[in-house]
Amino acid sequence: MNIFHTNLFKTVLSGGLLMTVVPSAESAKTQRENPPNFIIIFTDDMGYGDIGVYGHPTIQTPNLDKMAQEGLKFTNFYVGAPVSTPSRAALLTGRLPIRSGMCSEKRRVLFPNSNGGLPPEEITIAKALKSNGYHTAAIGKWHLGHKSPFLPTDHGFDSYYGIPYSNDMDKVEKTDHFTLANEERFQAYNVPLMRNGQIVERPADQRTITRRYTEEAITKIKDFKGEPFFIYLAHNLPHIPLFRSADFKDVSKAGIYGDVIEEIDWSVGQILDALKKEGLAENTLVIFTSDNGPWLTFKTHGGSAGMLRGGKGGTFEGGLRVPSIFWWPGTLKPRVVMEMATTMDIFPTFMKLTNTALPADRIYDGYDITPVLFETGPNPRDVIFYYRDTEVFAVRKGDYKAHFITQPEYDSDERTIHNPPLLYNLSEDPAEKFDVSGDHPEVIREIEQILKQHLSTIVPVENQLEK
Ligand code: MG
Repeated sequence: MNIFHTNLFKTVLSGGLLMTVVPSAESAKTQRENPPNFIIIFTDDMGYGDIGVYGHPTIQTPNLDKMAQEGLKFTNFYVGAPVSTPSRAALLTGRLPIRSGMCSEKRRVLFPNSNGGLPPEEITIAKALKSNGYHTAAIGKWHLGHKSPFLPTDHGFDSYYGIPYSNDMDKVEKTDHFTLANEERFQAYNVPLMRNGQIVERPADQRTITRRYTEEAITKIKDFKGEPFFIYLAHNLPHIPLFRSADFKDVSKAGIYGDVIEEIDWSVGQILDALKKEGLAENTLVIFTSDNGPWLTFKTHGGSAGMLRGGKGGTFEGGLRVPSIFWWPGTLKPRVVMEMATTMDIFPTFMKLTNTALPADRIYDGYDITPVLFETGPNPRDVIFYYRDTEVFAVRKGDYKAHFITQPEYDSDERTIHNPPLLYNLSEDPAEKFDVSGDHPEVIREIEQILKQHLSTIVPVENQLEK
């Protein structure tokens, strides 16, 4: 397989002079004989402030803290939507969910009685890598359709092991959601655990689910050793209801939510250790991030966005800005990255890293961010679109974010249209406290143009969540 950067010698314009740039030691280091392996660890509803290295004062995450010290800690990293199904569609396709029909105001995510899913004509990271000789495995929450032809094994994954949607679905007890969330009865949720297309356990015993997903990931690492692989490990937790294994019961000062995060942290440590033991660490890029912000409705069971405003479901920063750590020892120079990036950038970046052609027949909303990873050039991204379901509520350009519409995350249809839009300088005011719209009409005009241009690229497609 012909792999890796093709244009190591770049011709650039510098002060009007054409010059050839000799590859740096860093980029030369990235030339390797073997194509890199990829692991994405994706948590469910973990907020920006929920792990030690992102500032949580009482949840202990030594493995994630070390991973961040050894890798890239992103502080301006976003998902494609503030709720599960569309966020996952964005990650795996590199495209905003509006383009695949994977978002809706009526049903914000897929439910057990939904008939739709990620359309077969969408190309996932797994499908693209598989076409280039990769082994692929999906473990954990899918939430892109639990019936064929929408299952992971229909979308480029060789195998699947997991609960195919949210862990609070298939509720079989009448007790209300809030009360149940404070109890620890997995039998109250009749969610299936699937292996490939078959249900192998129902209800899934969620107390051991994080541990079992971890064991499955380590088995795959060992099985795939020697050949390129992509493992997508999407934890069902810390989405409510919260469960942890006996080893993590009451270990955290932060209560059951802290226990759950600390077990996920343990899981990360196990996976990185397995890579080291198998001699794969230096040829594997591991990404750790979350599908959306914390579910604030559930109070202490719902996590924290730290200093960011808002949470899951909404378009303030807490809804879409998430912790994100990239780890690739010996290749990525450890540092804090303040540049913007999104989960949608992962697809084009993996394609670049494996010399796999990005399909040319569709619009991508992600960018190849290898210039950011290797510090070889400017960040191709300086705009973020904050979609709530099918509408753009806010746009960020550089430091500035304009909110055109705001709405409480849950339990209210009341939306506020802002004209002029609210404007925040996110570098100076990451908590979105101080509206500066009156001071910068030119920034608002520029953002309005960006939004207009973006909307002109959206083509209506069949809605998959309303089927
Ligand atoms: Mg989620």
